[in-house]
Amino acid sequence: MGVNLLQYNKFKIYYLRINKYSMGCSNNKKPYYLESEAQEALIRSNIRFVKAAVNYYVCDQCSEYHLTSKGETNLLLNDLSIKERINKERQLQDWSESFGRR
Ligand SMILES: [Zn+2]
Repeated sequence: MGVNLLQYNKFKIYYLRINKYSMGCSNNKKPYYLESEAQEALIRSNIRFVKAAVNYYVCDQCSEYHLTSKGETNLLLNDLSIKERINKERQLQDWSESFGRR
């Protein structure tokens, strides 16, 4: 069962990549193969940008995840530990940026 699932996932990734090359994605957004990658990118977006992405979605063109700044805010961003991480890394980033300018 586990092996079959692994084979299925490999096939799925292979298929999606073929699909992407043949169809492409017109919105030029960065694709994420895995939901966990999209979540991480969403968090990083909120660390880096004031007008950050609020959610991610599965693209109907390339079948991968993209970030979006429209619509409902993902529950992940309301998670207390995630909020703490964003605030903490923002402060670190501000510090390193002002340090780098000197
Ligand atoms: Zn797409």
